[in-house]
Amino acid sequence: MPSYQNTPAIPSQELLDRNAKYAENHKPKLGDDHWGHIPHNAVITCMDSRINPHEQLGLGVNDTAIIRNGGGAVAELVTTILAAQEFGVRHFMVLKHTDCGGFHLQGSEIIEHFKTRAKDPKAIDEVIARVKEFGFGSATIEEVVLSDVEFLRKSPLIFEETEISGWVLDDTTGKVCEWLEEQLEKEY
Ligand SMILES: [Zn+2]
Repeated sequence: MPSYQNTPAIPSQELLDRNAKYAENHKPKLGDDHWGHIPHNAVITCMDSRINPHEQLGLGVNDTAIIRNGGGAVAELVTTILAAQEFGVRHFMVLKHTDCGGFHLQGSEIIEHFKTRAKDPKAIDEVIARVKEFGFGSATIEEVVLSDVEFLRKSPLIFEETEISGWVLDDTTGKVCEWLEEQLEKEY
């Protein structure tokens, strides 16, 4: 496992100051201005701070919803995906990225580290239940994308007309590529 170094937390006052600057030009997006313009696309991606879908895909505010968690793992996000589908999303873009933490950290390591830090030793069972599947193991990024796309495509919870596509962001180049249908058909 690589060693992790954290940058210092940004002080709350600094965040409030930055927000005050933003709010000077903020335009409310309430009522019909919002509910009449809910995006039909949603990006499902990783919580990684290097991923900024709005910037990297040139998105506007109402272009897409963003659904995230560690690794962009769709199985954990089903409730949110269902809510998004109810709000009108008909295209979920599964976006993974190179050098994802899912390649560096496995559930077994989270469990081991937790044992040494737990304020309540009884919590370990819940940690095991929640994180034992975390991480990509020895899978390639292509396999990780394909597996999550396939999970959603096969799910009975996804409407017939809802599209599921797979994407990869290569952090070396900054380029995003769509995982081609032929590759998906070849693999499954
Ligand atoms: Zn990641």
